[in-house]
Amino acid sequence: MTFIRFGLAGCLLTLIVAMSDAGPALAAANHPQNPIRDENAELRRLYDRIARSSGLRWQQLAAVDQYERTLTRARPKSRPVAPGSIVGIYIPEARWVGELNPDLGDTAPLSIRVFGGIGRDGDGDGQADRTSAADLLYTVATEIQAAKAGQDRFAVGLWQYYRNERAVQRIRQFTAIIDASGSFRSAKHAFPVPVTSSYSYRSTWGDRRGWGGRRTHEGTDIFAGYGVPVRSTSGGIVELKGWNRYGGWRIGIRDLDNVYHYYAHLQGFDDNIKPGAIVQPGQVIGWVGSSGYGRPGTQGKFPPHLHYGMYRDRGMVEWAFDPYPSLRKWEREERKALRAAR
Ligand SMILES: [Zn+2]
Repeated sequence: MTFIRFGLAGCLLTLIVAMSDAGPALAAANHPQNPIRDENAELRRLYDRIARSSGLRWQQLAAVDQYERTLTRARPKSRPVAPGSIVGIYIPEARWVGELNPDLGDTAPLSIRVFGGIGRDGDGDGQADRTSAADLLYTVATEIQAAKAGQDRFAVGLWQYYRNERAVQRIRQFTAIIDASGSFRSAKHAFPVPVTSSYSYRSTWGDRRGWGGRRTHEGTDIFAGYGVPVRSTSGGIVELKGWNRYGGWRIGIRDLDNVYHYYAHLQGFDDNIKPGAIVQPGQVIGWVGSSGYGRPGTQGKFPPHLHYGMYRDRGMVEWAFDPYPSLRKWEREERKALRAAR
């Protein structure tokens, strides 16, 4: 059982949906020797090239591509990208060739224009090919750049292309993360409390819980003492900070995989944490407490613990998935690194 989080941050409606988090890996890369490294370098060259021809910055292009990649991972059936494609961008055939174009496989830039399609030739081979990474990226960049100049041309261009406020928000968030980190790949992860501290947790996915009506548990509770540091499990951008009657003082952080990390019942926040702030994995964001289940400031209605939740954005809705396996993995990795450092 998982839940859906609707709307913008803070609005936490839940619907029960019988579906598990499905995140199939990307299509196998072409270079089995060192796939990640080669692909990153290849992508970076492509972003640079399309940046020069489109006028967008490479970080903006990388953010658009990464956003689309996360949607493709979340919904592979409805977004059939070409096998082996290094970009995550998906443009439906009819949008590429034009709604009235009788040839859904049209690659001729001229007839695509005539039928009102958006497909363009980004690699200079004379074809507007929906399976070409350069053509896809150049096409999206051109559409975004077509926005009239204004206060924030990139945001306006994103809105005109996606017609979806969430897409605009995500891509701007990703751009900020990439600007700060210089990388378009997720950084490593950290366990949310120091592995040297005293804590305990177990898998409680879907358990019933008492307060606030019929809700099942959509995260993992990590029990620890008051004041134990809470650390960001990922790199990312602070999307939300404040009070919620269920979660108490809580923080939401979005990472480059379009996963939203939710930290609740905190005793307080680190001074550096404010919406829009960029965080590193392992960075202290607050402290374990027992806030929540009432008006702002309510605490002590349950033993101190960190409630940690993970939500995957699927474009229009977000789905909670069980953080327990990730927590176990990050805990193992940190313990191993600690032993190695001794
Ligand atoms: Zn909890």
